[in-house]
Amino acid sequence: MMNELLPVSEATRIVQEQTRRLPVEAIPLTAARGRVLAEDVIADTDLPPFDRALMDGYVVRAADTAGAPVRLRIVGEAAAGRGWRETLQKGEAVRIMTGAPVPAGADGVQQVEVTREFDGGKMVEIDKPVAVGQFISERATEVRRGETVLCAGETINAAMLAALASFGYARVRVGSRPRVAVLATGTELVPVSDQPGADQIRDSNSYSLLGYAEAAGARVELLPFAGDNSELLQQLISESAARCDALVLSGGVSMGAYDFTKTALGALGAEIFFERVSLRPGKPTVFARLGDTLIFGLPGNPVSVSVTFNLFARTALRRMQGDSRDALIEEHAVLSRAAKGAAGRASYLPARLLTDEDGRLVAEVLRWGGSSDFVAFTQATALVIVPAGVGLLDAGAVVRIVRLPE
Ligand code: AMP
Ligand code: MG
Repeated sequence: MMNELLPVSEATRIVQEQTRRLPVEAIPLTAARGRVLAEDVIADTDLPPFDRALMDGYVVRAADTAGAPVRLRIVGEAAAGRGWRETLQKGEAVRIMTGAPVPAGADGVQQVEVTREFDGGKMVEIDKPVAVGQFISERATEVRRGETVLCAGETINAAMLAALASFGYARVRVGSRPRVAVLATGTELVPVSDQPGADQIRDSNSYSLLGYAEAAGARVELLPFAGDNSELLQQLISESAARCDALVLSGGVSMGAYDFTKTALGALGAEIFFERVSLRPGKPTVFARLGDTLIFGLPGNPVSVSVTFNLFARTALRRMQGDSRDALIEEHAVLSRAAKGAAGRASYLPARLLTDEDGRLVAEVLRWGGSSDFVAFTQATALVIVPAGVGLLDAGAVVRIVRLPE
């Protein structure tokens, strides 16, 4: 199996199978956005918790207003946070503000615009009849106490923070964030702050990996460069594996004389699950485990790094946190221009998603200079999948796509 090309779906399945969920932790609600819920969220109150006024005006017995205009006696006031505790009798009205509880005996609200107080505020004239239930939001019509409103495995967004707040979740149980180390290999690399000399380039992969891993919810550290030095590589891998949940390496997985990633993993006794995927770009992707740490050895070309991270590592990082949704949901789009496949491998081509006049999703495969063209790749929002063996897909063809994270 080791030397065959593994289909992407099979490689993904292996990654998922090897991924363990991290422990659950309780965190303050203020820190919960973007985290994965580890508990179902149960409503501890009805919503609204009481019959609630939706307008500023007067709350009345609807029947009293049938022959409007009518004159009613003002007997009190109900404000948000300070209700009127008595029972409204025939011929009476209570001044009411938006958000205030509707008093017993009342069954409708008239907005202040069609009313007029007189007699020094003792009486009100209601110009238009009030229907039963008018401008009242009835108790429990949104949510009933005991209902499950959010499920474990969902990723908390801003709107969900409000739901959590409403039901008293000052602290919320979420999956722990994976700790990820990023390790760049390659003697040619210099730090971002340096001017590359002849034969040198700046390390860019560490930063795309940092960004994608953080977007997936991880806490990321960048390790010192490993060069193409097998001993140093071994040392950095074993040290970081001891404190991290995942290690992402870039480069050094091809067949070159200085590609030492697999050698180093082998020397450390890591279990290698696959090292060749039916994928373009990204064929020499390595997936291994050392102790409990998952190791992704990604091919060094910047576009290959981005594609393979998002196909394999992202899924693992989301799963570690308990994300119940598959990170790789395939959708369909129409090609705006032809896309070229490859004989022996599935192609995942960088593309920009657009919507045409008819609202159809259109994928525009980027014109790019190949798997080192990371500048073109900055415009990609999705990958167009061309199955292995399909030579050319014409403009207008419906294709499968996966979205890249934003
Ligand atoms: P490799 O997979 O090590 O053979 O590298 C493939 C290509 O990617 C080479 O052209 C490398 O110079 C380039 N490359 C490798 N690592 C990085 C990196 N961290 N940043 C930018 N380019 C890289
Ligand atoms: Mg290299």
